[in-house]
Amino acid sequence: MGFYFNPNIHPLKEYLRRADSVNKAAEVLGIRVIRGDREYDPEKFLRQMVFREEQRCSLCYQSRLERTRNMALKGGFAFFTTTLLFSKRQKHDLVKSAGESLGTKKSVFLYEDFRQGWHEGRETADEMGLYRQNYCGCIYSEFERFRSELG
Ligand code: SF4
Repeated sequence: MGFYFNPNIHPLKEYLRRADSVNKAAEVLGIRVIRGDREYDPEKFLRQMVFREEQRCSLCYQSRLERTRNMALKGGFAFFTTTLLFSKRQKHDLVKSAGESLGTKKSVFLYEDFRQGWHEGRETADEMGLYRQNYCGCIYSEFERFRSELG
């Protein structure tokens, strides 16, 4: 079971574009996906980050994984994990520690270093014609990625 919960993604069109890719991949793989669209709230996300920009990734991982853990508990899933563990561009150790701090006896955080499948995963995504993001997600990361275009 997949859970698409990304209130961090800016702007809304990017959120929808990534959601569309998740839906396509899930269809091919035969995975059901719950979407957290009703919780997509950029104002709330930015209020959590403002004046804490230096810690924003830690807060972001924590809040998304907490919501995922709660969903796993509600659904009776014994394990939960995250695609963040796949990315070579994420702060892997922070993701791992956030997940481990949220695991419970009823829903354990499943840690695995999915980065070992990085190249294969990217190739497969391309073969499937899936959109691949070119910045992490929030407005801060979008600015960092493209600021050089300002000249
Ligand atoms: S850079 Fe990525 S992980 Fe960090 S706050 Fe932004 S969206 Fe979240």
